[in-house]
Amino acid sequence: MVQTQTHCYHLLGLSESATLTEVKRAYRRLARTMHPDAGGDHARFAEITAAYNVLTGRSAPAKAAPRPRPDEDFDRDAAFADFRRRAANFRTRTGTAAQPDSAAQPEGDAPVEDAPQAEHASVDGLETAQVTPEVPCRPGLWARLRSRLRRARVRAMDGTDVRTPLSVDLEMLLRGGERLVSVERLITCPSCAGQGSELCVCGGQGRVLTREKVKVVVPAGARPGAQLRLRRKGNEGVAGGATGDLYLDLQPIEIDGYLREGADLRGTREVPTTLARQGGALAIPTPWGSVRLDVPPGTRDGMRFRLPGQGLPRWQGAGRGELYLLVAVR
Ligand SMILES: [Zn+2]
Repeated sequence: MVQTQTHCYHLLGLSESATLTEVKRAYRRLARTMHPDAGGDHARFAEITAAYNVLTGRSAPAKAAPRPRPDEDFDRDAAFADFRRRAANFRTRTGTAAQPDSAAQPEGDAPVEDAPQAEHASVDGLETAQVTPEVPCRPGLWARLRSRLRRARVRAMDGTDVRTPLSVDLEMLLRGGERLVSVERLITCPSCAGQGSELCVCGGQGRVLTREKVKVVVPAGARPGAQLRLRRKGNEGVAGGATGDLYLDLQPIEIDGYLREGADLRGTREVPTTLARQGGALAIPTPWGSVRLDVPPGTRDGMRFRLPGQGLPRWQGAGRGELYLLVAVR
């Protein structure tokens, strides 16, 4: 369908004073969300593509009207060509589509004169290219203006909490200590300062996923199910939203041969019949090392011994639990 020039501009969300570059940019932006492959509406996509073709001279408008004036925004086109080249390289590397590297061709305005199909290919490439953090933001006057517009539309959103397990070894269980924990969290995009510029590494989200080392002080006596909370170490918010918290789910090591009940430990020890009858000394392994247990003469099967302070440190309390031994005379 042939459309009027004015209608074409409006379809792309532009005024009639828009430059050729702005037309191309607007089309790319819309195509990214409206392409049927991206879940867009087919008819609507066809409409903006037709408008794009009119404004770039690929098909004739209903009424003769001046084409958009060329402008000096060469740098942005070069940047986009660079973008396309990287995307093409990426596709070639991954074997999705072995296409010739467009970098071999002189760049400038040439790549954007491709057929609309090629534009779509580069739109796919844009999505892929978001994972390669080599594309710098180019904050210019236009970017600043646009980000101001965007800021007005972006709704503030609080960052969510981040939750991650943390295994606690014997040393940390008995004495506590510091640990550097590797945590994945969303932070404000450093390239665009959270403005969400389209060509930024954050893909316009304003946040990027990072892996950070966070220093954690783990108290002694960690229990299964215990958690530590680090305020404002979760995901950062959007547009001034609050930062979430980081929760560490502690997963303490088990103590070989013993059942844990809070800070207390319970276990069974086999005692030879002769030693039980006559009495004697036994070496008992505990989390703290080996201790000596004096077995009195006449010890019977089923008797229980208490080893004070040989259990685990009390979680967020003072002192240690006990170690209880059940005697099994064999
Ligand atoms: Zn960014």
